[in-house]
Amino acid sequence: MKSFERFEGNRNWTAEESILLDQISRLAEEALAPRAAGYDERKEFPWKNIEDLRRIGLGGIFVPEEYGGAPVTYRCYLEVIRIISAACAATGIIFGTNSATAKPIIEFGSDEQKRRFLPRFAEGALGALAITEPHAGSDAANVRTKFRPDGNQIVIDGEKIFITTGDVADVVLLFGKWTEIEDSPNAVSAVLVEKGTPGFETLRLEKKMGTHASSTAALTFTDCRIPRQNLLGQPGDGMKIMLATLNKSRPSVGAQALGIASAAFEDMLEYTNARVQGGKPVVQHQANTFLMADLATELLSARLLLDHVGRLVDEGEKHISVEASMIKIKASDLAMRLTTEAVQMFGGHGYTREHRVERLMREAKITQIWEGTNQIQRQVIGRDLLAR
Ligand SMILES: Cc1cc2nc3c(=O)[nH]c(=O)nc-3n(C[C@H](O)[C@H](O)[C@H](O)COP(=O)(O)OP(=O)(O)OC[C@H]3O[C@@H](n4cnc5c(N)ncnc54)[C@H](O)[C@@H]3O)c2cc1C
Repeated sequence: MKSFERFEGNRNWTAEESILLDQISRLAEEALAPRAAGYDERKEFPWKNIEDLRRIGLGGIFVPEEYGGAPVTYRCYLEVIRIISAACAATGIIFGTNSATAKPIIEFGSDEQKRRFLPRFAEGALGALAITEPHAGSDAANVRTKFRPDGNQIVIDGEKIFITTGDVADVVLLFGKWTEIEDSPNAVSAVLVEKGTPGFETLRLEKKMGTHASSTAALTFTDCRIPRQNLLGQPGDGMKIMLATLNKSRPSVGAQALGIASAAFEDMLEYTNARVQGGKPVVQHQANTFLMADLATELLSARLLLDHVGRLVDEGEKHISVEASMIKIKASDLAMRLTTEAVQMFGGHGYTREHRVERLMREAKITQIWEGTNQIQRQVIGRDLLAR
């Protein structure tokens, strides 16, 4: 398709980025995509995929060089997420969550924390970001998990739900309230909890609609003691850290959604060209030609917006919350629409597990919900408009 080819041709990747993206694309095509349906069907954590990503050193692409990484631009990181997610959305989610856990350590961590944790991420450690609680979803400032200082330790008590990779993560970035500060958003603080810390347990794994290969865990913390030096920033810095984290992870959800949407579009194009009904390929019935034209236009616009957000970050722009919300809405709504249309274009065959569009439609839905629902993203954008 010429418009997409022209877009790809104008992206100005450096030589190193091109080599990396070629390597990821090959891995995605030869290993991740062929395994995706099986992992989903068996509801199995995609360890082979994680090992493959570790083997090519992918954990290093968001870690500074002095801590063992080989960082790429944020725009390139988003493209990596898009490519992985097109092949296996669950693996894309896991990899994106690692970056979402490591980034706040880079931005807010002490030198000691950076030395202790970042080389592990560069080597492929798994991270989890634990904000949501049974009573605090969209209203994240209302978390009830308690952080009580006790000498050179912090005692954690509380429960988290829906935590991606929470059951197997090496490091959990956990949000709760500092008991010495009056209960309010100002008390929200962030700590790092390592796997195996006594008092930290997995309560259950959720049974979900899709992305079955990515685990989603309920976690409990009961008299769980961590060293005081695992506090990220200062007591009460939690909301600042959370918002900075989400500003970077929301475009990453946009990239996941675009990966899912791109995969559905490719499958739809191939199928509707090959499937003949009423004497011509399905795509040549005018209603379908127009639908495909609309979807191609939407897909290209969403990819341009993702590139724009990536460039803003690479140029040093700090205030990207509005654009981060825009790409999250644009890409996830498109993924839902495009995968639904793809199932429709496959007819009855699309409703069966014979084709991957059925899985893609189930995977698309979560991108409208997590990292802040799309209603919440619209509030973020709306607040910016009202403030003007
Ligand atoms: C598979 C999966 C993975 C996840 N991974 C993580 C993770 O790794 N870490 C983590 O911390 N969380 C994670 N989550 C949680 C996710 O971020 C929350 O589910 C999401 O933010 C919504 O919170 P909630 O489910 O409590 O819904 P609620 O906040 O109860 O919302 C219910 C409905 O009300 C709407 N609503 C709420 N407030 C408003 C408002 N002010 N204005 C308008 N509408 C509103 C919502 O949009 C939604 O439609 C995950 C969830 C799932 C399902």
